[in-house]
Amino acid sequence: MTREYGAVTREILDELLSALGKNRVLSDHDGMEPYSWDETGKNFAVLPEVVVKPGNTEDVRAVMRIAQKHRIPVTASAARSGVAGGAIPLRRGIVLTTEKMNRILEVDPVNRTATVEPGVITNDLCKVAAEKGYLYAGSPMSTFTSTVGGNVATNAGGAKGIRYGSTRAHVLGLEVVLPGGDVLSLGGKIRKGTWGYDLKDLVVGSEGTLGIVTKIVVNLEPMPGRTADLLVPFRTIGEAVAATSKILALGVSLLSCEYLDQPSVLLTSRYVKYVYPFQDEAEAFLLIQVEGKDEETLERDCDKVGNLCYDEGAIEVFVADNRSDSADIWSVRQNYAEALRVKDPYFVSGDVLVPLS
Ligand SMILES: Cc1cc2nc3c(=O)[nH]c(=O)nc-3n(C[C@H](O)[C@H](O)[C@H](O)COP(=O)(O)OP(=O)(O)OC[C@H]3O[C@@H](n4cnc5c(N)ncnc54)[C@H](O)[C@@H]3O)c2cc1C
Repeated sequence: MTREYGAVTREILDELLSALGKNRVLSDHDGMEPYSWDETGKNFAVLPEVVVKPGNTEDVRAVMRIAQKHRIPVTASAARSGVAGGAIPLRRGIVLTTEKMNRILEVDPVNRTATVEPGVITNDLCKVAAEKGYLYAGSPMSTFTSTVGGNVATNAGGAKGIRYGSTRAHVLGLEVVLPGGDVLSLGGKIRKGTWGYDLKDLVVGSEGTLGIVTKIVVNLEPMPGRTADLLVPFRTIGEAVAATSKILALGVSLLSCEYLDQPSVLLTSRYVKYVYPFQDEAEAFLLIQVEGKDEETLERDCDKVGNLCYDEGAIEVFVADNRSDSADIWSVRQNYAEALRVKDPYFVSGDVLVPLS
């Protein structure tokens, strides 16, 4: 039987070692094992033949040249929080991890952008942007573990998607190393791009199939005003769903509106040791983040949302307006996936998209 791809031989290993140095190339079983699986589950694990840890674009180019010369498959890998197996090296070969490319290169207040390497943890970018008075609105629930590069490659959505869109909406520019080592520079610190094909948008969401993203320019938003989180239990799923479209039509400024079902809440609440009020009676919860430019507007808009929820059959409306209460109620939503994984290591998750109607 002929192999579709080449195998990583001693000579190829030596080429990688001389390009990157010995601390940047792993080929022992134990060292490579963590790179054989992601959050899809260990049961899908495939051990690569070699793991490389480039530190910059030139390193990535060198790896891609060697890989193409010898027909070795390359799988990009970042924080491996993905739940679709994208970072698993199905055809073995080279795993290229971006973990050493983790610098925030610039926050540019004039252009309201940040430029980062792909291995930056998303929340680190959020923190640095916030220190300078800006919001980085990419906010998957895995923000504390996943990377900006991984978010770009998966076009990650998240809790603030309802207001700001998925990752594609935040990406202004990309540097991409193609198979073979050529470098593409797509977009930049500009917001208007009316010419030709939008290759940048094509790369976003392409899960490493088109090339390795080595630099990312993102849009930064002005910081939102004051926020409050409303946790609203409903006796039935139907009531929660009906309330959602009406809340969105209210015209108040929302940052999030998350739906949580009872089985997931019960499971996750045991995992994070935080109990939602009425979790034994409520079939569904809404977790709504309201924004107001000042205290008065915020209070007024929270009342509007709360009253509407009562009209739609809410059992109660709880308002968390301090950081620790907010962190607690969000912890349940943020830990869904881990709680499920602990309960059932073989579960496979997916998103379901429906129109508001
Ligand atoms: C608890 C939890 C919550 C989550 N919440 C969300 C959520 O709210 N929204 C959401 O969309 N997803 C969510 N996810 C899924 C996952 O976190 C996201 O898909 C995330 O974007 C993956 O980032 P990562 O750095 O872990 O990438 P990885 O999992 O390492 O890689 C993901 C894919 O990107 C490719 N890739 C990585 N880096 C590069 C690069 N530099 N160039 C090219 N390709 C690259 C990989 O080959 C792979 O195909 C969640 C996962 C968990 C475990």
